[in-house]
Amino acid sequence: MADDKTDQVSPKWVETLKKIVMDNLLVIFMIIAVIIGVAMGLGLRDHISTDDKRTIFFLQFPGDLLLNMLKMLILPLIVSSLISAMSGLKAQASGKMGLRTVLYYLITTFCAVVLGIILVVAIQPGYKREASIERSGKTKSAEGLTSLLDLIRNCFPDNLITACFQKKETTMVYEKVTLTTPAPSPTTDDMTTAAINMTENMTTEAMTTVEAMTTVAPKVIDGKLESIGLSTQGGMNVLGLVVFSLFFGGVLARIGEKGRPLIDVFDCLHHVTMKLITLVIWYSPIGIAFLIAAKLVAMENPGEMFTQLGYYMLTVLVGLAVHAFIVLPLVYFVIVRKNPYRFMYGILQALLTAWGTASSSATLPVTMSCLEERNNVDPRVTMFVTPIGATVNMDGTALYEAVAAIFIAQYLDVPLDFGKIVIISLTATAAAIGAAGVPSAGLVTMAIVLSAVGLPVEEVRLILAIDWFLDRFRTAVNVLGDSFGAGIVEHLSQKELQEMDLHLHKYLEDEQNGVVNTFDVKTAIDTKM
Ligand code: ASP
Repeated sequence: MADDKTDQVSPKWVETLKKIVMDNLLVIFMIIAVIIGVAMGLGLRDHISTDDKRTIFFLQFPGDLLLNMLKMLILPLIVSSLISAMSGLKAQASGKMGLRTVLYYLITTFCAVVLGIILVVAIQPGYKREASIERSGKTKSAEGLTSLLDLIRNCFPDNLITACFQKKETTMVYEKVTLTTPAPSPTTDDMTTAAINMTENMTTEAMTTVEAMTTVAPKVIDGKLESIGLSTQGGMNVLGLVVFSLFFGGVLARIGEKGRPLIDVFDCLHHVTMKLITLVIWYSPIGIAFLIAAKLVAMENPGEMFTQLGYYMLTVLVGLAVHAFIVLPLVYFVIVRKNPYRFMYGILQALLTAWGTASSSATLPVTMSCLEERNNVDPRVTMFVTPIGATVNMDGTALYEAVAAIFIAQYLDVPLDFGKIVIISLTATAAAIGAAGVPSAGLVTMAIVLSAVGLPVEEVRLILAIDWFLDRFRTAVNVLGDSFGAGIVEHLSQKELQEMDLHLHKYLEDEQNGVVNTFDVKTAIDTKM
């Protein structure tokens, strides 16, 4: 009898378990991959030296393959998604959806910045230093205004083909000044400050200060600006492609029947790209495991890093956690009235990919797939919202930029009044918008924030050692922000989406009755299908 009962119960139990496992197979693989990656990395640290660049390079090979596959899909995905979405939405619907998207991005990014500022002012990590941070190593200096102008310039690439692999950047060449006059030894800080004053102002006063402080050993510093121009930098100009695709798709929908063949091409390209993404996703656990392992093996002096920058790290991580687990879910719950944590679980795979790759652009294919397949977000919304989000919406980066700038000010004992804090909050939002979705991009756009409040841009080197680690967490928060954005915009755009659905039914009915339909109705339907 008992055996009979077990026989009846166990198949049901096994089947439920089987169903759960099958439904969550990829997520389970991803979690296992992260655990294996961490274990492999920590285990191999005893056998591979951090100087053994060759072995580390080979260890990363499977991870490089994943990154290549994901990056390969970014171009067709962004262009086809945005053009299809824009050509499928009516002008009014795309305008409304666009406005909601932009508002959501700006509000949540600003919330992240404010949260970061509150935490860094409360915790004061810059004053709680247990050991002085080594400030060796050169970082490329940039100026705030030029970075901002570069951002706007890159929105309008002069060549679409080169925009697929190049960006423009302002380069300035300074006259080199050699300082040789003997004087009492100044501190490195004094030298840096004077050199910066001199570079920026080139006043006689600054020159005298530098000369007076010069030691016996000759020192070369930047002098007068000799030339300024544009240089090309490697990497896709995603912002330029996004802007172009938005306008191209918008106009395509408005030229009537003539645009039909091209709309079909981009729709088809989008469907094929999404299918390719599904294939790549099955490989992602292997790639992620090796990316994590290689990074852990290459990590130099983790102990030192934690003692020197422990409080700073803690501030950033607490801020990111509060934003990810409280602020964003709350915004989602208040607007959508659905369980935000269930939504987060649906995109867990994208979050883990973001953590493993430290690139929200590379994660974009996975994000779109998770949103559509697991969270059932309308493709018309994901196609429109997520490519833009992966490019401009970076809550994690914004929070980190604000914390980092104030941390640097605290470390250098530079007082910041309320006005400067306001400037930091505004420029951190702008810097996050300007950061590309690639590893450590936030570190580069930090120049905008630092120079806006007169802090030496070179001092990003203070936080350089830990950046790769924090980058992973902030990228995951960036992807989370984009995903919640898609859910929220979908909810707010119900009316427009339903109107389009009504058109769809009318079209199908008319077709059955042999009535010829207007062009815009058919366009909207194809995008949905
Ligand atoms: N790695 C980040 C991203 O791809 C950008 C950054 O903050 O550096 O979203």
